[in-house]
Amino acid sequence: MSKSLVLILSAAFSPLSFVFAQTPSGYWQQRVEYQLDVRLDDQTHAVQGREKLKYFNNSPDTLRRVFFHLYWNAFQPNSAYANRIKRMPEDTPLKKVLELSPAETGKMEIFSVQQNGGAATFRVNETIMEVELNRPLMPNDYATFDIAWQGQVPLTVERGGRDNSAGVAYSFTQWYPKMCVYDRFGWHAMPHTGYEFYGDFGAFKVNITLPKKYAVAATGVLKNANTIGFGYEDEGVTPPPNYGLVNVWKFEADNVHDFAWAADPEYMHEKVKVRDGLMLHFIYQPSDEVTAAFKAIQQFAVENLPYIEANFGKYLYPQFTFAQGGERGMEYPMLTLINIERNDRYVIPIAAHEWMHSWYYGMMGNNENEEYWLDEGLTSYAASDVQDRGKPDTAFRFSRFAMSRTVQNAGQVKDPVATPANYFSKYDDYRFNAYPKGEAFFWQLRYIVGDEAFKRGMLRYHADWHFKHPTGDDFIRTMERASAMELDWFYAGWIKTLRHTDYAVENAIPDGTSASKIILKNNGGLPMPVEVLVTFNDGSPEWHYIPLDLQYGTKHFAQGGVVVHEPWSFSVDTYEIRLEKPVTSIRSITIDPDGWTADMKRENNRKEF
Ligand SMILES: [Zn+2]
Repeated sequence: MSKSLVLILSAAFSPLSFVFAQTPSGYWQQRVEYQLDVRLDDQTHAVQGREKLKYFNNSPDTLRRVFFHLYWNAFQPNSAYANRIKRMPEDTPLKKVLELSPAETGKMEIFSVQQNGGAATFRVNETIMEVELNRPLMPNDYATFDIAWQGQVPLTVERGGRDNSAGVAYSFTQWYPKMCVYDRFGWHAMPHTGYEFYGDFGAFKVNITLPKKYAVAATGVLKNANTIGFGYEDEGVTPPPNYGLVNVWKFEADNVHDFAWAADPEYMHEKVKVRDGLMLHFIYQPSDEVTAAFKAIQQFAVENLPYIEANFGKYLYPQFTFAQGGERGMEYPMLTLINIERNDRYVIPIAAHEWMHSWYYGMMGNNENEEYWLDEGLTSYAASDVQDRGKPDTAFRFSRFAMSRTVQNAGQVKDPVATPANYFSKYDDYRFNAYPKGEAFFWQLRYIVGDEAFKRGMLRYHADWHFKHPTGDDFIRTMERASAMELDWFYAGWIKTLRHTDYAVENAIPDGTSASKIILKNNGGLPMPVEVLVTFNDGSPEWHYIPLDLQYGTKHFAQGGVVVHEPWSFSVDTYEIRLEKPVTSIRSITIDPDGWTADMKRENNRKEF
């Protein structure tokens, strides 16, 4: 279908009611169906596991080997992960991995791997297991794997483990042999060195056996809720007494790329049906502070869900659980583990961030290692947008905060955003690129294409890419379709290089007796469309808009009266606007008065006369 027809259609129909997929032709992805059985001994923190995995090869390639992640092996003092942490110049809490005693390390030992009922040869190299297939896996065929393993739950170093700093007993994250992703770009058998994740979509059936005193928070839906209880049971149901020592919790989840869970004997459980087909769970150790924090999260979630779904697309799972656990905050399908110890001003920002990850990474399952900015930046953008709405411009705004942090720190960071997460030598550089600079990409993109086109693009991204593996290129193509603009120049400039934007008001000079010329200058390496506010002596404003030639389009302004000029060429550093008013009538000229661009020298954006 021609691009212009797509644009007409997408303008005429709401993407929610009219959807046809725009994934690249020939797009494919693998599918997984996990059956995980795990038994926890809470005296020794030992785990016994059995994994049955059906792996569907939807690729055009014949596979002769496959790879699995064994993440827990990272949490040992001599692992690649530990070596990397050791070399970091910052004093990070992750350095406690270097001091773990043998009883505190993480371990995953593989006893046997079978493929289609026959033994398969496997090699374990710390966090990656390579399995030689005993029979090649052909395109459009599937293989079954049966893996027997045992492990030791590490002391919480980051995200998962036992005994976190808030006192939550167990956070089971990245805890089972997890198939590495084979996608359009090949295998992603990246050893775990602390950062981001990636997984194939599919179905999980997980049976968790553990002492009966523990309550569990997990990805998925509890299938035996009326037997287990702990607040999961249907209204009016009294679960039967359990005379045994253990409970077997049976969870199922569809269309997810990971499964995480946490367990604690003191967990309290509240649930709120927030709309048809969606239950929110809140699971935490009650105390004055923690209970207040989770009540605040509950109110925030209930109030904001309609706005979130209208602007970013529908939440497509039957439940979401906010649970206390892990370290800091971390996203999993249908679950976030947040290490809340008190009710402070970080509670809502973290909860908002982790929840928005359900969209960016959860449903739109990008490769977090290769393109962490695509989910961290988008998540940060969406969380700021949700938290900023309804706030007057004078209030603290998360959007402005991301922008100003980007401008303040940009000069010090030597790696571009496009650097894969695992290759950063400084944790702070990764953090800067993932959060403020990643977020600033999306605020500026919205400035370039306009509010309406941006919202259309976000809904389109959700419609086209949910339960799939989009890349940055796919995202920007979606935005190009939604805006009828070319955006690769901004994508390349912001993500792949270290260039900065710096526009300046040079001067205003007479042009005859009754007109004037405003002279603007581009001093930066990353060009942008330019918006200029001219204020006259009588207080009246006049908006001017100069598109950038590279964008091949003009944004739509909701307010009328904007003077749209000829595009400014990226190759030229000065631009003149002619005003039919004398210079003496001008009070001030301001470039980007609303602060939508990460302009490195804001002081030269404004000139008063
Ligand atoms: Zn995040």
